[in-house]
Amino acid sequence: MDTTPAGSAPAPPAAAPTTPDAEFPSLVLVRHPLVRHKLTLLRDRRTPTKIFKELVDEIATLMAYEATRDLPLAPVPVETPLEVMTGEAVSGKKLTLVPILRAGLGMVEGILRLVPAARVGHVGLYRDHSTLEPVDYYFKVPGDASEREFFVLDPMLATGGSAASAVTSLKRAGATRIKFLCLVAAPAGVRRLAAAHPDVTIYAAALDRELNEQGYILPGLGDAGDRLFGTR
Ligand code: URA
Repeated sequence: MDTTPAGSAPAPPAAAPTTPDAEFPSLVLVRHPLVRHKLTLLRDRRTPTKIFKELVDEIATLMAYEATRDLPLAPVPVETPLEVMTGEAVSGKKLTLVPILRAGLGMVEGILRLVPAARVGHVGLYRDHSTLEPVDYYFKVPGDASEREFFVLDPMLATGGSAASAVTSLKRAGATRIKFLCLVAAPAGVRRLAAAHPDVTIYAAALDRELNEQGYILPGLGDAGDRLFGTR
């Protein structure tokens, strides 16, 4: 997988995943032309809920293709119509998807299409009004967390508070192998998540400019949860 930190490997071809610069060594930008095309449609304020949902689903599939690039394989015998040969099967840690409620739900089906055997946990967080810090209100993952690889899902990595908190909760449950998949990231969010959890590789389709005063990503795509579920 091209998760090699920027600067330590030869420049990848244009459409290969890449890190933008050495400031974000744990960030992998998925720059495939289809991802970039679909992300532009997603950003468009005129894109209706139905299409928005389909686009999130499709981009999640394409992101998962990159994030699963390092899955280990084991040899398995397979009998073709003509003879027996040694094929390959995905082996190693079992995969668990953990959407952060509620926008992360929009990414689940697109990834399950590629990895149908994956389990799905859930993390629910709200922001405490006095501390402004995220607080878990729901946390459910499979019991054998130390035996699993986790993909934490949230379309938007904005301040990084929820992402860092979700990863902390997973680690407390025993998880040791965690990746974070989002569609749009803000530099502040990448910095915060990477500072708290430098071992977590972050996959994003875009690294946007900044956050506004309300914590929305600019240029971004608006409120992903509202646009996914039509609650704007
Ligand atoms: N959450 C969203 O849905 N959008 C943003 O821009 C930031 C956080």
